[in-house]
This record gives sequence, C-alpha cells and structure tokens, in this order.
Amino acid sequence: MKKRVLTTRENLPGHGLDRLSEAADVVAWSAAAKPGPADLAALAPGVSAVLALGNDPVDAALMDAAGPSLRVIALASMGYDNVDRTAAAERGVVVTHTPGVLAETTADLTFALILAARRRLGAATESLAAGSWDVFRMHDYLGLDVHGATLGLIGYGQIGRAVARRGQGFGMRVLHYDPYADVTSDDGLSTPASLTTLLAESDVVSLHVPLTAETRHLIAARELAAMKPTATLVSTSRGGVVDEAALLDAVRSRRLHSAGLDVYEREPMGRELSPLVAEEHVVTLPHIGSATEPTRAAMVDLAVDNILDVLDGRPARTPLPGTAARAGVAA
Ligand code: NAD
Repeated sequence: MKKRVLTTRENLPGHGLDRLSEAADVVAWSAAAKPGPADLAALAPGVSAVLALGNDPVDAALMDAAGPSLRVIALASMGYDNVDRTAAAERGVVVTHTPGVLAETTADLTFALILAARRRLGAATESLAAGSWDVFRMHDYLGLDVHGATLGLIGYGQIGRAVARRGQGFGMRVLHYDPYADVTSDDGLSTPASLTTLLAESDVVSLHVPLTAETRHLIAARELAAMKPTATLVSTSRGGVVDEAALLDAVRSRRLHSAGLDVYEREPMGRELSPLVAEEHVVTLPHIGSATEPTRAAMVDLAVDNILDVLDGRPARTPLPGTAARAGVAA
C-alpha cells in the first residue's frame, strides 16, 4: 500500500510533485490562502511525510495529528525556523532542508538589493514612470557607490560566501562575522572580523544567518547606531533577525543611508503593509531570494528526494544540522 504524504501546496515548481505522486498518495492543501496550523492538522492524520515551505507552521500539534506514522518533515527551503525541531526530535521524526541548491540564486538577489538600495533604483524608476523626468538635473537620485566599498557579511555559510565572491567582482573589501564558521583567517574572499569592527567599518552590512534564539534581533537599535550613517543594511535571511521598529527609526532619522529587505518579521503582509515598504530609502521585496524557475524546482526535487529516501529506509540526504538522518533516531 502506498504511504500518504501531506504537501502544504497543491502546485509546486518543477516535476518533483509528479515523482512524489507516483510513489505515494499525496494529500495537499489546495486553497489559495496560506494554510494555518489547524488547516494542516486536519489533513495530517496517517501521513508518513510532510512537504512544507519555509513559512508554514510545523508544530507539535501537526506532528501529533499525523500520529506515529510520521517519519519525515521535508522543507522546500533552507531556513527551518518554522519547525519545532525539539518536538520532531522527541518523536523521532527527521527534518530536512535544502542546502546546496539555492545559495547562488539568493546571492544574486542580495546583490540586486545592495545595488538598488545604494543607487536608489526604486525611487528613480517611480519618478520616471510618474512622468517627472522633464529635465536632466545633476543632483537627482544621487546614490552611493558599491564598487570599492566595504561589504560586511554577518553569517559566512553558503549564501554569505556566494555574496563574498560577488563582492570581490565589484572590487569591494569584504569582512565577515561568524563565530561558528570553519574559516578563521582570510580565505582570499573575506577577512574575519568582530561584530563591532564589521559594523563600524562596513558600507554595506548583509545578513546571512539562520533565525535562532541567538540571532533574533541581532540587529537592533544599538547595532544600527554603530553603523556608518552612509551605510546600507541588507537582509535576505529572516525577518526576525532585524528589529524592524529600530530600523524604521534609523532610516527615518537619516542615521542610516538605506536598507534592502527581502524578509520581514510578519510574512506574508497582505494589505497590512509594514511602514518600511513606503520608505523612500528602503527597497522591499516579497521574500523572493530563491525565486528562479530552476532553483525553486531544485528545492522541491531535493525535498521529494529526502521524503522518498526516508520512506524507503535510507538516510535523508540533507537533514538539518544536529538532527538524525534516520527516522526513529532522536538527535
Ligand atoms: P548556512 O547554514 O550555509 O549559513 C549560515 C551561517 O550562519 C553559518 O555559517 C553559521 O555558522 C552562521 N551563524 C549561525 N549563527 C550565527 C550567529 N549568531 N552569528 C553569526 N553567524 C552565525 O545557510 P545559508 O544557506 O547561507 O542561509 C542562511 C539563511 O538565509 C537561512 O537560514 C535562511 O533563513 C535564509 N535564506 C533566505 C532565503 C530567501 O529567500 N530570502 C533563501 C535562502 C536562505
């Protein structure tokens, strides 16, 4: 008999879901709205696997609704802050994510934000579209340079390193702060620095840490005050890493030049927009860091591979760090 698998979306990029449907009975959340915890729990009884996105709530109640058949939670995302990992470990459920397939794409988007925020591309495009480009003025839309500037990376994992390579291409001096990275000296791309030095010396500070208890509000009023008034803060990591109220205050009072954001404390926003969206010196995107067709398809493929491996009794390909690769082995 085929195993039952819950997916939190009916349609996903690429052909991963087709492969999953051949091997398992797929039950999917099919409404257009984002599923809430109760919606997913109602679909979960008897499933052996859950395929979820990085924003879906995967809590103990969902795992209990699935029951003892549940063996693997496969995220089609790199971030995993939406999963109760303790609850999964207690139930012997493997949790997997998608390293190795999205860093370059997310680094491209990070650079788009750096360029857009420092060169004020959003405001310039809006002005052109509004018909306001009636005379050439030397002082219009003056931004700040990216080439030759200092780029400070907080978090030096897969995406941080991919951004460092791009920074080298732009002739930037690159620093990184990551107490857990295996790189303790200059690796030819970037120089390790303390958080204090990085904040004080960087023209662009870019965030590439996971959201954890330790990184929540890692960038708050004190850290923003320690940055140069000509600096740009960019985040493609997770919204909770930045204290958004403090960021709004810093940008409005011109104590910070600009910000480029792909992620927010409250996602998705719907019509209740964060006040940051209306700020002229803040470039905002709706969490599209990995949003290219091949990369999103690769993320779904990897999530499906993880499910099929675990259900067939093999170790998961890409379990979360610190968790067991095999179901039933609590980390
Ligand atoms: P990664 O695991 O390769 O790297 C994360 C790095 O952060 C690691 O080197 C780790 O040592 C470091 N780190 C952990 N805690 C830290 C701390 N307190 N201070 C400094 N460094 C710390 O992950 P990655 O692929 O580079 O992705 C990073 C994060 O980006 C993900 O966890 C995810 O939340 C987010 N992300 C967002 C998008 C998007 O669409 N915007 C796409 C992919 C990933």
